[in-house]
Amino acid sequence: MTEAGTPTRPIDKEALRQKYLLERDKRLRADGNDQYLELKGEHAHYLEDPYTPVQPRAPKTDHVTFAFIGAGFAGLATAARLKEAGVQGVRLIEKGGDVGGTWYWNRYPGAQCDTASMIYMPLLEETGHMPTEKYAHAPEILAHCQRIARHYDLYDDALFHTQVESLTWDEAGSRWQIRTQRGDAFTAQFIGLGTGPLHIPKLPGIPGIDTFQGHSFHTSRWDYAYTGGDPLGAPMDKLRDKRVAIIGTGATSVQCIPHLARSCQQLFVCQRTPSSVDVRANAPIDPEWFARIATPGWQQRWLENFTENQAGGSPTVDLVQDGWTDLNRRIRAQIGRLPPGERTVATMLAAYEDADFQKMEEIRARVDELVDDADTAAKLKAWYRQLCKRPCFHDAYLQSFNEPGVTLLDTDGQGVERITPRGVVVAGVEYPVDCIIYASGFEVGTAFQRRAGFDLTGEGGRTLSEHWANGMRTLHGMHVHGFPNAFFVQPTQGANLISNVPHNLTDGARSIAAVVSHALAGGHARVEVTPEAEEAWVELLRTAPGRMTSSPDCTPGYYNNEGRDPGPAARLNVGYPAGPAAYFKYIAAWRASGRYEGLAFSS
Ligand code: NDP
Repeated sequence: MTEAGTPTRPIDKEALRQKYLLERDKRLRADGNDQYLELKGEHAHYLEDPYTPVQPRAPKTDHVTFAFIGAGFAGLATAARLKEAGVQGVRLIEKGGDVGGTWYWNRYPGAQCDTASMIYMPLLEETGHMPTEKYAHAPEILAHCQRIARHYDLYDDALFHTQVESLTWDEAGSRWQIRTQRGDAFTAQFIGLGTGPLHIPKLPGIPGIDTFQGHSFHTSRWDYAYTGGDPLGAPMDKLRDKRVAIIGTGATSVQCIPHLARSCQQLFVCQRTPSSVDVRANAPIDPEWFARIATPGWQQRWLENFTENQAGGSPTVDLVQDGWTDLNRRIRAQIGRLPPGERTVATMLAAYEDADFQKMEEIRARVDELVDDADTAAKLKAWYRQLCKRPCFHDAYLQSFNEPGVTLLDTDGQGVERITPRGVVVAGVEYPVDCIIYASGFEVGTAFQRRAGFDLTGEGGRTLSEHWANGMRTLHGMHVHGFPNAFFVQPTQGANLISNVPHNLTDGARSIAAVVSHALAGGHARVEVTPEAEEAWVELLRTAPGRMTSSPDCTPGYYNNEGRDPGPAARLNVGYPAGPAAYFKYIAAWRASGRYEGLAFSS
């Protein structure tokens, strides 16, 4: 490759298309999401918090201005913006033992952000923090979450290890009644929901999983008491004499396998589908460079620049320069080579496919360069388009398979055959192990209520699940008719920027702070999206091209509902038709106008 998107050798496109379909077909299965086990009953112990003991406290029965469910990036950013706007009485409610959300739970060795810290970590400018690395490691991100909570005094009224059980709109009082598993029964004028998309771990429904007699845990509840070591990278010395199997090779595994490979006596990596693993190129951030660029407004400029580079804009500079922006740069270059008169949807999609083929060929060639054993290398190659599954970036993962104690157990798309009391069975061979680590991901395609652990009961006793029975309906992904004073903080039906999820959340926080401040300043007890505005937004979304990231042609995974038709309701799980960069501009203007079009404020 000489220049982005300029092929150096010819690609047999038809052969690649056929290979991709063949590999997808191998993996399609009738049970889709049902192949996974829900962690309840005898499996509920996999959810226990290994990090923080539960502190006894008295139930809350008071009233607050704003209660936010979830103390991850969404809750922290929203609470911060509310505090900046002078709103008092902001309470975070969190099922974990501290703030941080995904970064509270995911402490597996090697965890780090996959999107550059400069744009991934919220409120850097406000808190004055300089990330230490281009891709910060998990302890730094968790510490940053704690920094935000301290900076904005969010700890004072936060409720940890607290799971909301019901949220009910009190019509007479214009407020929400909140009940939790800790016996809390308090009210809030406003509520925010930032429960996150990837917070309920799931286990693979492998036959015999409950018969295993050794130790096991899920990666999002890393058992350092068993492995030794710590999230900061201390060696996992207790694994020195252990045989360990890890099941799954998604983004989590890619990060933790290099550490396990160094620590275990024997490591068996059970692979169903290889990840695409591109260059990471992490590097420390130079304080002198940072001081030069961190002029007022720097983080917003970086956010906007990344989004433009990522999401189809035509920026003149790429500040972040990473694997996410690379594919788009290539697509733009490829399209740029089309004569202007020939730029149709079909030729542009073909240009996108060409850029993708080239990129994936390079990623596959990288496997050959880095993995010594040719057979292992062949099995580690990903045969699908780059955005069919979550792209991964790592500079030590592939080399792990050169370690003498590491064995790749490739299952040719079928998954682990069986788990026995002694270990895992792949292709009829039993591999005895002391420990099984489940890197099997999180629930995505299941209902919101199942993942959140509660439904909302809005005006007239109508539940959110009833309102969304035929698909999600919102204005901006945030406001839902019949659920006054409630704000959803998540990407869908808004910007839907998947490559930098925090940007969606921090921008949503601005909208909430603006709307709530307006309501409070005007003495309005309630604010609600009108049915017309909700309907118009949903109608607009129907014209969206759909998710570019994945399609039924893709190999199964959570990006495409495990390859199953998700039904017509999922048609609305899209973003603003003109794309993320256009959405952020639109919503900034919506806020700045001060009219909050589509919302009705009343006393
Ligand atoms: P994933 O859902 O991506 O991966 C689960 C893995 O388990 C897949 O490799 C899957 O195979 C495999 N699997 C499932 N069932 C079986 C089975 N029966 N036998 C063998 N293998 C099986 O989970 P992750 O935790 O890796 O990642 C989830 C998401 O979390 C990421 O996509 C990303 O969005 C986020 N994440 C972000 C990070 C960051 O920003 N730094 C780091 C880590 C995760 P198959 O592919 O065939 O389904």
